[in-house]
Amino acid sequence: MTLDAQGTNATNRAGLNGQAPRCDHINQLSAVEYGPPECKDCLAHGRTWARLLVCLTCGWVACSDDARGGHAKAHYRETDHPVVAALDPGSTWRWCYVHRRTV
Ligand SMILES: [Zn+2]
Ligand SMILES: [Zn+2]
Ligand SMILES: [Zn+2]
Repeated sequence: MTLDAQGTNATNRAGLNGQAPRCDHINQLSAVEYGPPECKDCLAHGRTWARLLVCLTCGWVACSDDARGGHAKAHYRETDHPVVAALDPGSTWRWCYVHRRTV
């Protein structure tokens, strides 16, 4: 069974010497409503964040690990939701925690 016919167009741009396994996680996502643009965990501790990410599985918004919080990654550890996107409008950056690369 080959999966190459589908999904490669959007995902193979990163192409790490052809070694990178394709990320199937993004194919499992459906549209979610994003939460408010703030990291609730940081707010609870009176911290600030560098960048906000949104979980594409459930819409949970949390901070990237550019700063101390890393709450988006913590969300992944708790939930196994694999893919986040930058919350910045117009950004197409997405990250798969399982494959540890942009997707
Ligand atoms: Zn993946
Ligand atoms: Zn945070
Ligand atoms: Zn989630």
